[in-house]
Amino acid sequence: MLDLKMYINGEWRDSRNKEKRDVINPATGEVFAQAAEGTVEDAKEAIEVAKRTFESGAWSELPPIERASYLFKIADKIDEYHDELTKLETMDNGKPHREADGDITDAANCFRYYAGLITKPDGQTYHVADPMQAMVVREPVGVCGLIVPWNYPLLMSVWKLAPALAAGNTVVFKPSEVTPVTPTKLFEIFEEVGLPKGVANMVMGAGPTVGNEIAESHDVDMVSFTGGTKTGKHIMKAAVGNMKKISLELGGKSPNIIFADSDFETAVDWALFGIFSGSGQVCSAGSRILVEESIYDKFVDRFVERAKQINVGPGDDENTEMGPLVSEQHMEKVLSYINIGKEEGARLACGGNRITKDGLEKGYFVEPTVFVDVTPDMRIVQEEIFGPVVVIQKFKDEEDAIKLANGTDYGLAGGVFTVDGAKALRVIKKLRAGITWINTYHPTYNEAPWGGYKQSGIGRSLGTFGLEEFQEIKQININLQVEPIGWFSK
Ligand code: NDP
Repeated sequence: MLDLKMYINGEWRDSRNKEKRDVINPATGEVFAQAAEGTVEDAKEAIEVAKRTFESGAWSELPPIERASYLFKIADKIDEYHDELTKLETMDNGKPHREADGDITDAANCFRYYAGLITKPDGQTYHVADPMQAMVVREPVGVCGLIVPWNYPLLMSVWKLAPALAAGNTVVFKPSEVTPVTPTKLFEIFEEVGLPKGVANMVMGAGPTVGNEIAESHDVDMVSFTGGTKTGKHIMKAAVGNMKKISLELGGKSPNIIFADSDFETAVDWALFGIFSGSGQVCSAGSRILVEESIYDKFVDRFVERAKQINVGPGDDENTEMGPLVSEQHMEKVLSYINIGKEEGARLACGGNRITKDGLEKGYFVEPTVFVDVTPDMRIVQEEIFGPVVVIQKFKDEEDAIKLANGTDYGLAGGVFTVDGAKALRVIKKLRAGITWINTYHPTYNEAPWGGYKQSGIGRSLGTFGLEEFQEIKQININLQVEPIGWFSK
């Protein structure tokens, strides 16, 4: 049984009230770890430490090349522990090994990317009237509160920690209470590479207590949050007290548009990957497939045929193609949406049930589920289900496809499949979404910005934009002719 503690000011701690929370393997329903259940007081202490450390300059004033050298060491350690981290990620989140494997590699490379970026030129200079010189420099924001979800426990943590630390901030980090295992391992790595005490602090515990304190505290200068849109709205309200900077990566209900002239098997294959990888627990999941009417029936038949063949099982079985849902509570939420779909009159083309056979009965497995004959107003078309559930809609022409695609409150991602390059770009440019793909779905790069339009969020992770989120911009004006202005006569 793993015993997971919080990390505050370079020390491993239980929570003040000594409470623990069980951490469950979603493939078996078994408890394999216990995590400290932090309190508001624990969060306050971590914030105080982060503030003091920031003000000391121990990290923010370190030459960028030195901060970068820590980040490179962290990346190398993630590589060194790659197999252990992969195994732990699968145990905690349920995702198949091959998915966890990619996440761990990306996590190491994300640290490398920001280690490299922080030593590269930035800022701007401006041509203004003589004898002035105007320029801009970037500075760390201060104390950053980082709150992450459970679907990519390590990777979502790293998407925030790497740029926040590279920029010279100190941090108070809260993992999801459901998946604290690989984030804890990451903080062990921070200790191992000798990251100065108080720079990175981790508090575990519930969102409404510990998370809320991080979002609300006047000593936190910025909150960067990834999670559901409803929680994102709470964070915005909580952050208003000291007008802290916010960055929100929220939910989605992303359209995947398949034109009749697409390469048929390619489109079916990527569309399956778009929704069923990660068991659909992916913010950018292509959970609404829009298909041109002339190939609609053929597409549905082939898609359902392939969906039924997906090998569902525990993540540590190398034959597994789709793992369980992350928790019993989340599985119940997904199953309740399947019921809503049936009640709304959508037709279930396949799936729809919890899997309770072949040794999977103790885990939280749900069949790949496909709904057809849906209408745009249905809840299963409008709301994020965050599970292996997809709706397949029919469209008449390009205009109709765009209207349907943009017809939700979300705007995170979207895909288009067609071999007509001009049409692909025309449609993509009309999509109100921050991340888009043509003839592919899901590829994500540390180098490129990630984030949404509309209620899918504010700001961007990754790439140069992801670093800027964790920086303030300072304008500096210099008088090159040191003499009085002479504005007033006396
Ligand atoms: P939640 O919004 O429920 O939780 C996310 C994090 O916020 C958790 O750490 C949670 O704590 C914490 N939290 C919950 N309530 C509060 C609160 N009142 N104040 C402060 N913090 C709080 O999301 P899930 O964990 O269920 O993750 C799934 C969601 O994340 C989906 O909607 C998905 O789309 C979104 N997501 C978006 C991504 C993007 O890049 N746009 C990427 C990945 C996921 P606790 O430990 O108690 O759960």
